[in-house]
Amino acid sequence: MSPQASKKIKRAAASAPVKSLWHLWIGGKAVSSLAGKRFAVHNPANGQKLTEVAQGDAADVDAAVSAARQAFDGPWAKFGPRDRARALFKFAQAVRDHREELALLETYNTGKPISDSRGEVAVAADCFEYYAGAVTKYFGSTIPVSATGLDFTLRQPVGVCGLIVPWNFPIMITAWKLAPALACGDTAVIKPASYTPLTALRLAQLCEEAGIPEGVVNVVPGPGDVAGQALAAHPGVAKISFTGETATGERILRAAAATIKRVSLELGGKSPNIVFADCDLERCVEKSIFSVFGNAGQDCCARSRALVEKSAVEEFVGRFAERTRKIVVGDPLDEATQVGPMISRQQRERVLGYVALGQKEGARLVCGGGLPEDVRWKAGHFLMPAVLSEARPGMRVVQEEIFGPVLCVLAFDGEEEAVRLANDTPYGLSGSIWTRDLSKALRVARRVESGNLSVNSATSVYLEAPFGGFKRSGVGRELGMGAMDLYSEVKNVFVEHG
Ligand code: NAD
Repeated sequence: MSPQASKKIKRAAASAPVKSLWHLWIGGKAVSSLAGKRFAVHNPANGQKLTEVAQGDAADVDAAVSAARQAFDGPWAKFGPRDRARALFKFAQAVRDHREELALLETYNTGKPISDSRGEVAVAADCFEYYAGAVTKYFGSTIPVSATGLDFTLRQPVGVCGLIVPWNFPIMITAWKLAPALACGDTAVIKPASYTPLTALRLAQLCEEAGIPEGVVNVVPGPGDVAGQALAAHPGVAKISFTGETATGERILRAAAATIKRVSLELGGKSPNIVFADCDLERCVEKSIFSVFGNAGQDCCARSRALVEKSAVEEFVGRFAERTRKIVVGDPLDEATQVGPMISRQQRERVLGYVALGQKEGARLVCGGGLPEDVRWKAGHFLMPAVLSEARPGMRVVQEEIFGPVLCVLAFDGEEEAVRLANDTPYGLSGSIWTRDLSKALRVARRVESGNLSVNSATSVYLEAPFGGFKRSGVGRELGMGAMDLYSEVKNVFVEHG
């Protein structure tokens, strides 16, 4: 590490914004949990305890839902569309004003490289700004139904929304849900993941700077099967927006069934990176590296299956492994770091298990898959990005979401087989296609069962465009103007005028 980088880290550590105790945020106030419980939150980069957080349960969720309902019926209902838009613009600015503080908080809490955290805080601010603009551009229609009457639709808020967030992109995914909910006039109870509750709590505090009334945004950290379940089942919650594992999504659907809640689910993935031999392989490899290893592979969109046309496999694996070995793995506070630790020791053990399983199933470990050699990082949950070549359909490492920095490479022969392999998992979230033949790209894109695809690019996630999954990757589409439909009801009104 350069002396300059190490100085920067010391400066950042000195201004670490992590206080020693965080409370629940209900009705615009920091409050202890009713049962007085707390849990510890750790820094994944060194395994040490970072802070303590009040642990909510069903009673706290109940209090948060009441506060959210009061705000929904009271002060928030008095905010007209332009008032809501102004408040959201101010909120976006508040997030920007606190960018460095929020980014450091996210990095200490998740182990993300600081450059990634800064980028994600910027996306969160952009997201509030996008939906600030959407408020006044989202409206109903008049419908020709009869000669003697007028039919029109109103877009109305659904009420209190339960927003359940995972640990891999905490501030960004919170913003993806909270921004359209507020834009539609809803109020919210956020249940962040237990590993990473800090930026959601800080965001809620920033509401005051934007003039968003108390009780509009509430945050109740707590165990998923207690606080999360209570939120999903609560009769006062009109809508649940969930991002997380597919198995948890199933439990949420069941919990929400009794009260017929509106539910949207963003779930797991096992996305294909389809590489045809005629593509620009150098560019494909350079761009693809972080589409699987970014965020230490803890990305629902991770292109974790490289499907490569037979004649290009050897060159692809060689280039990919060479590039993988150059990835800078290390201190998340170092500006040069590209991949930080995994979220927890348990998660790393799980992924190490998959690396061993892949080899047992017959795949070849080309690089990575072990702990870093640098002794400074032994205490953190680091794992060197791994490439498993010679993988075959049906292997568990090819079917299951590993959620860590592991790429499986499979060979295919021709377009038909590429499509068949791409669709050969229960998931359908994301994927890329690399070829110079645009007709082929479009034919394949049409047939791949996936909510998001990119051609000659490693991402297709943009705030302005819909995002979500086919099959067991989810229900509904976040982002874009379509997300406004998730957080509002359509009311049809007919007026007989004779
Ligand atoms: P997770 O399902 O374990 O937890 C997500 C959230 O749900 C957490 O807040 C957790 O406390 C809560 N929760 C857990 N059990 C619950 C229950 N029974 N009832 C209600 N809430 C409950 O997921 P995770 O481990 O935090 O995140 C990783 C998963 O998220 C991966 O599968 C990944 O693919 C998925 N993910 C999907 C997207 C997407 O947009 N499709 C984005 C990011 C992550």
